[in-house]
Order: sequence, then C-alpha cells, then structure tokens
Amino acid sequence: MRHHPIIIISAPSGAGKGTIIRELLSRDERLAVSISATTRECRPGEEDGVDYYYLTIEEFQSQISADGFVEWEEVYPGIMYGTLRSEVERLWKLGKIVIFEIDVNGALALKKFYGQQSLALFIQPPSLEELKKRLIHRGSESDEEMRIRLNRAEYEMSQAQFFDASITNQDLKVAVREVAELIDLFVYGEE
Ligand code: 5GP
Repeated sequence: MRHHPIIIISAPSGAGKGTIIRELLSRDERLAVSISATTRECRPGEEDGVDYYYLTIEEFQSQISADGFVEWEEVYPGIMYGTLRSEVERLWKLGKIVIFEIDVNGALALKKFYGQQSLALFIQPPSLEELKKRLIHRGSESDEEMRIRLNRAEYEMSQAQFFDASITNQDLKVAVREVAELIDLFVYGEE
C-alpha cells in the first residue's frame, strides 16, 4: 500500500460529488474525508465539525497568519475555504486514506503540494443544463448564488484536463464504481 495516499476529488457544485463521496465512505472504512474550514454560513442540515469547520473571517485570517492551512482560497467573493494542516495530520494518525473534496484551484494546488502521493479526480456533470437542473432541485441557493455557481462551473469544467482522470456522473452507481476502481488501483496497484 502507498504511504499516506491522498485522493483529491473535485467537481462543480451540483455535479454529485458529495453523493459519490458518501457512497465511497459507506463501502470502505479505510477512507476518510478531510473536513475543510469555511467562512460561509452553515446550511440547514449541516453540522460544525462534520460538514465543515465554520470559522469567522477573523478566525480564518488568524489560521492563515499561523500557517495553519495546506491551501486556502476565496472560492466565491468574500467566502473563504481551506484545508487545515491539523486535519490532515489527525486523519493520517488514524491510518486513513485521506479524501479531499475541494474546488479545482484547491485541487490543483494540493496536487502540486503532494505530487505522486496524490490522485486527482474530476467529476463531470453530464452537461451544464443538467447541472442547472440539479442546482434548482437542491434549492439551497438564491438566484444570485446560483448564477455565481453556474459561472464558476463553466470555469471548473475547463480545468478537468489537468486532473489524473475525469469521471462523468451520468449514472451514480457507475460513477461510484469507476471512482472506487481508480482509488484501489492507485492505493494498491503497485503491490
Ligand atoms: P459548498 O459551499 O457548495 O459546500 O462548496 C463550495 C466550493 O468550495 C466547492 O467547489 C468546494 O469544493 C470548495 N471547497 C470546499 N472545501 C474547500 C477547501 O478546503 N479548499 C478549497 N480551495 N475549496 C474548498
């Protein structure tokens, strides 16, 4: 098995990345998701320390000053997201294969940081139209937030070429199987 393997999973908001990751976790207890820090509001149904560590802007900035992040980014205007060093170390101590669920810029920054130790996967929605439908269906964003997320999605999809592999989430079961196979090959493939 590869030492401290890292799996980076990126996708536009609404491409189904969260569902795919939940499926992977329920199948394989060696995997654990790195919980990111963010300054965005906690959505209904989310929990601090489970979905994100919800920080104030001041708390986030003091982590930046203390070099507490492996990477951080202003993903949407005024809204910061970042990967805490302490979180990655916590999961490695537990012997976990760490999964990062992260936007494309964060993903490519992590890939650069961790190099061969990491596998970067991009989840594609079947189309931008389908992505729009899924976001409307989810109903958690205002019109303005949705417009920002769709613009962002177009940019994110243009970056798929820089990932180690790209998986289209047309059918959830198929996508989960493809991702699981790629992870197994990466983690155990050289044995
Ligand atoms: P959401 O607000 O929908 O949960 O996430 C918004 C975006 O922030 C997603 O594209 C998500 O991948 C990204 N994101 C989540 N955690 C991190 C992180 O630790 N670092 C960076 N750079 N982006 C993140």
